[in-house]
Amino acid sequence: MENIQLLDGLFYDSQLKGKEYLLYLDVDRLVAPCYEAVNKQPKKERYGGWESTPIAGHSIGHWLSATATMYQATKDEKLLSNLKYALSELQKIQSYDEEGYISGFPKDCFNQVFSGDFQVDNFSLGDSWVPWYSIHKIFAGFIDVYHCIKSQKALDMVVKLSNWAYNGLKNLSEVQLQKMLICEHGGMIEVFADLYHITQEKRNLELAEKFYHKAVLDPLASNKDVLEGKHANTQIPKVIGVAKLYNITGKEKYKQIATFFWNEVVYSRTYAIGGNSIREHFGPKNAEELGILTTETCNTYNMLKLTELLFPWQPSAHYYDYYERALYNHILASQDPDSGMKTYFVSSEPGHFKIYHSQDHSFWCCTGSGMENPARYNRNIFEISEDTLYIHLFIASKASIMNEKVKIEQKTDFPFQQSAQVIFKTGSEAIKKINIRKPYWLTDFNQVRVNNSPQQVVEKNGYLMIEREWKDGDEISYELPMNLHRYYAKDDKHKQVIMYGPLVLAGALGRENFRKQILCVTINR
Ligand SMILES: [Zn+2]
Repeated sequence: MENIQLLDGLFYDSQLKGKEYLLYLDVDRLVAPCYEAVNKQPKKERYGGWESTPIAGHSIGHWLSATATMYQATKDEKLLSNLKYALSELQKIQSYDEEGYISGFPKDCFNQVFSGDFQVDNFSLGDSWVPWYSIHKIFAGFIDVYHCIKSQKALDMVVKLSNWAYNGLKNLSEVQLQKMLICEHGGMIEVFADLYHITQEKRNLELAEKFYHKAVLDPLASNKDVLEGKHANTQIPKVIGVAKLYNITGKEKYKQIATFFWNEVVYSRTYAIGGNSIREHFGPKNAEELGILTTETCNTYNMLKLTELLFPWQPSAHYYDYYERALYNHILASQDPDSGMKTYFVSSEPGHFKIYHSQDHSFWCCTGSGMENPARYNRNIFEISEDTLYIHLFIASKASIMNEKVKIEQKTDFPFQQSAQVIFKTGSEAIKKINIRKPYWLTDFNQVRVNNSPQQVVEKNGYLMIEREWKDGDEISYELPMNLHRYYAKDDKHKQVIMYGPLVLAGALGRENFRKQILCVTINR
């Protein structure tokens, strides 16, 4: 990732709010279930909500990813010292298990799986609640810490944990593995693909491919949409993993799965705000059933990850048109700007409202991915591909790219301001082309100027390209004219959303006169 930092604006404010919650959380309470999993006394009491259930430990994994990424984004030293403390605690806990196992629940469920004789359904495995899903967050946390602060300790811990997984899984037959994969297992392909990328150890690639779930992924490879009725956030991480496997192996099948899936989800199963799912599941194609339990926030966190992987394969503005819509209307809007707490679902029920998690007693999946979201705002504003600088998003920011050789800044108060400028600070000679995304919602020609002179631009794949010799101090400015327009639901033209540019408009309706029947809902998992 390029070294990008946010400047004053909507996303900067939201990022600071997200950082407050990361600093608020007590590492001793987050690691408490990990102590208990190896029969040791924790220093403090574990948190409530999902952290008091068998899925416990997923939150310390998310917190590691979020805190490491937030440190990279903000350079706040308190984040770094908390992170180092968490790593030392986790290293101590891992040393209590001779196989290197570490998570927030005992390993009995995995031992049952590794024996080959185990019970499984969509959300339980070896008599526990989605154990691979939960432990995936710890794998991913260590890997993110390694990437962000180059921590050898984090790498050593995840290597030990992967050795435990390798030794456990090596004796399972293909039939037993496929049976195991019926249960939600998060991004297990992705973490082993990442680990292979870091270590070049072949066994990590083998492990990644052991998590290839044929029943879902093979039909996608043949352009068959089998998504109806499937739990959405179980599937998206599988496809992220497959996309990473394509980058490693070059197998066309993996690319086919990822691109077909992305298109099916984005164009046939996505609501106006960029989220998908109702009651956590994919509905029928081209249906937009309204309800209270629409658009689980984790799904969109994962769809953004998938989108950034697909863009380099075939650069095209439609990827970042989607990314922008989902980023503003779902991800940014999933955080309460006052309390910093996040949503699980975003209701599409007319007149309904947002429900945020509590500080200490929720720890839903979306609390976890929600910890990471504000730290990830920096991603993909800019992207470098050889000598081309892409400007995907109109967010005030500064970036050091190409190993700090090139420094640029984007000035804008978009969407309150309908224009932006990028200024070359240093190293401009390393860049030949600048590609500015021409968003789908533009209402007028977006004039591009360099040092205030109108430019001839070439439009290619939805980007406006300027190729010339650049010099430090050059200022590229572009207009972003927006207006009101309507979004029509795919299944009923009478269901409409009013949009302004990429923004879905919503009203603050107050708290009076809520209907009682929409105040309380439950979900069956
Ligand atoms: Zn979630």
